[in-house]
Amino acid sequence: MIRMSIISLDQEYVAGTYGRFPVELVSGRGSVLTAADGKKYIDMGSGIGVTAFGFADDDWTNAVTAQLMRLQHTSNLYYTEPCARLAQVLCEKTGMKKVFFSNSGAEANECAIKVARKYSAKKKGPDCYTILTLVNSFHGRTLTTLAATGQDHFHKDFRPLTPGFAHVEANNIAQLLDAASKLNPAGIMLECVQGEGGVNPLTPEFVKAAAAIAEEQDIPLIIDEVQTGNGRTGSLYAYMQFGIMPDIVSTAKGLGGGLPIGATLMGEKVQYVLGPGDHGSTYGGNPVCCAGALSVISRLDETFLTDVCKKSDYVFTSLHQAPGIESVCGLGLMIGIKTVKPAKEVVAACMDRGVLCLTAKDKVRLLPALNIPMENLEKAIEVIKFVCKE
Ligand SMILES: *Cc1c(COP(=O)(O)O)cnc(C)c1O
Repeated sequence: MIRMSIISLDQEYVAGTYGRFPVELVSGRGSVLTAADGKKYIDMGSGIGVTAFGFADDDWTNAVTAQLMRLQHTSNLYYTEPCARLAQVLCEKTGMKKVFFSNSGAEANECAIKVARKYSAKKKGPDCYTILTLVNSFHGRTLTTLAATGQDHFHKDFRPLTPGFAHVEANNIAQLLDAASKLNPAGIMLECVQGEGGVNPLTPEFVKAAAAIAEEQDIPLIIDEVQTGNGRTGSLYAYMQFGIMPDIVSTAKGLGGGLPIGATLMGEKVQYVLGPGDHGSTYGGNPVCCAGALSVISRLDETFLTDVCKKSDYVFTSLHQAPGIESVCGLGLMIGIKTVKPAKEVVAACMDRGVLCLTAKDKVRLLPALNIPMENLEKAIEVIKFVCKE
């Protein structure tokens, strides 16, 4: 009864922007969460792709608490080791040259957009500012990243949005070429697998065409790796599986392992675009968040990523043509399931049976911790299959 009051308190005082499930979570270990009523859940959502190594992971917790006890914040007026080391590791593992740190995916994209606009305005004049993004994309909730997001239902009630964005259909190379030739673009921004849009992977041909256009017109190609990044799709970043080298990579979510951090990685072409005073963030590069991210990134080696791919294969194979399942899509451990039953019903029934899943558009979406133990994964897949066929 005392616990019910937390739900009531939240409903009374927290802005009503979220449709929450009637569950209060109190603790977690590995890939298992415990609710206030003692019920345990296998977590197949990882806080929307954030808790990359699950809950109470020893390495991550030690890295974070050690830094927390030493120094929790400094501002960007001074140097700190976790920030510098994380930037070094990110650049060494990707071939990018510079990193700007922020606190979220939307901010990582804001920075990416600023870099693209400054680069292109300098090269081609002040009329070159339009960023091409895709229909059905998701890039964040600030007014500028909403404008970048190619889904009208997020836009209504908030106009006017930041001008200078145009949306082309995913995987439609002809439309992309047409927009690129007519709209004087300052950049192209895309997710290699559209997450919120329904876990839709782009075709390698389309991603390569975007990269070729960017190269030819000398504009930055921005890959939004907020959801796909940091091991989620079975490679360190998803673009690595598409045979391209972006000019700008934005990432967040799984990077921090559960603490808020965003990063905008800048390649050779744009590495000197941002100068003193061009951009900033009070919390950006926070040493505690960077220490957590350093623990996450340092562990995403070949052996670990091979294991992510094996788990992915297991999920795809288990769900392929299972009763009540129409199709399975995605990459690595970013998986969308088209079910015969409405996705929301499947998620609710799974929850009753102790498995937490997500949705994306009309699909059930799975984003388990990258190190989810096989026994938890097997159990969760069994429950999902049972619920779908019922
Ligand atoms: C979640 C997400 C964002 C926004 O991230 P926030 O941290 O919520 O601001 C941006 N792009 C993609 C692809 C995302 O999945």
